[in-house]
Amino acid sequence: MTKEDNLYSPNTINRIKKMYGFNLSKGLGQNFLIDKNIVDEIIYGSKIDDETLVIEIGPGIGVLTKEAAEIANKVIAIELDSKLIPILKDNLSAYNNVEIINNDVLKTDINKIIADEKIKNDKIGNVRVIGNLPYYITTPIVMMLLEEEIDVDSITVMMQREVAERMSAKPGTKKCGAITYAVNYYSEVINVCKASKHVFYPSPKVDSTVIRMDIKKDNRINLQDEELFFQCIKAGFGQRRKTLLNSLSNLEKFSKEDIRKGLNKLKIDENRRAETLSLEEFASISEYLGTKGFSSIERI
Ligand code: SAM
Repeated sequence: MTKEDNLYSPNTINRIKKMYGFNLSKGLGQNFLIDKNIVDEIIYGSKIDDETLVIEIGPGIGVLTKEAAEIANKVIAIELDSKLIPILKDNLSAYNNVEIINNDVLKTDINKIIADEKIKNDKIGNVRVIGNLPYYITTPIVMMLLEEEIDVDSITVMMQREVAERMSAKPGTKKCGAITYAVNYYSEVINVCKASKHVFYPSPKVDSTVIRMDIKKDNRINLQDEELFFQCIKAGFGQRRKTLLNSLSNLEKFSKEDIRKGLNKLKIDENRRAETLSLEEFASISEYLGTKGFSSIERI
C-alpha cells in the first residue's frame, strides 16, 4: 500500500479479506469505518499535531492509523486480533512513525509505553488516545484509561450513541448515570460528531457518536477520599428511583442517621434523587462522611 491508497471503502475491505483470508469478527466488534468525513472528524477533533504521540485503540485495517500518521509525530496502535497484524504492517509500510502492538488494550501497560516513548523521543509534546472502540468493551476501556490515570492529554473515541450521551451528560440532569460523574470528575467532555450506522462496514444496529475527553490535570475537584466519593455515587445510582437518604443508606460504613445528619448539615434535601446532584454535591457528601463529619467516631 502506498500513502495515496485509501482504506475507507467496502471494496478495499473485501479485497483485503480475500487477499489475507481474513474474516471479520463480530465478537471483537469489527465494524470498520468507510467514510472519509468521519475519519477526518476524529483526526481533527482529537487535536493531533506534529508533537503528538498517538495511542490508537483497535486500529482494524489501519484507516485512522494512516491519517493520524500523516500528522502526528508517532502512532502506537494496539490491536488484539493477531490476524490483523500482517494486514496493518502492509497497509502502513509507507510510514516509519507507526508501531503496532498485538495485545488486549485492557492488559497493556499504556503508561509504560508512553514513558518509554518519551525517553526515546524528545519531540513528543502531548499524548492523545484515539479509537473507534470495540462496542463490547467501550466502558471498561474508558474507565481503565481514566481510573488508572493514563498520562494523556485527551481521549477521542467513537462509541455507541447512548453510551456517549451518558458520558457527555451534565451531572445533575436526567440523562446522567454513575458513569457521567466518573467521566466528568476526570475530564471535560466535548461532543465531536455524530455518525450514522451506515459509515461502518459491516453496518452495526446502532448509531454512534465521537466524544473527546480533555483530561483534567490540576483542575479536578479536591477530594480527601476518592474511593468513598465513588462509593457514594455507586450507592446513589444503585437504586436511582429511591431518595438520596434511602439509596445512600446502602453504604456499608454509615447508618441511615449518619446519612440524614450529613445531608441536613450540607443542606441537601434527603428526598432528592441521585441524578439531580452536581459533582460538587456528591463530593461534599463523601467529604463530610469520610473526613469532617465522622472522622473522630469509631465504627465497627
Ligand atoms: N479503527 C478501525 C476502524 O475504525 O475501521 C477498527 C475499529 S473496530 C470498531 C474495533 C477494533 O478493535 C477491531 O479492529 C478489533 O479487532 C479491535 N479490538 C477488539 N477488542 C480489542 C481489545 N481488547 N484490545 C485491542 N483491540 C481490540
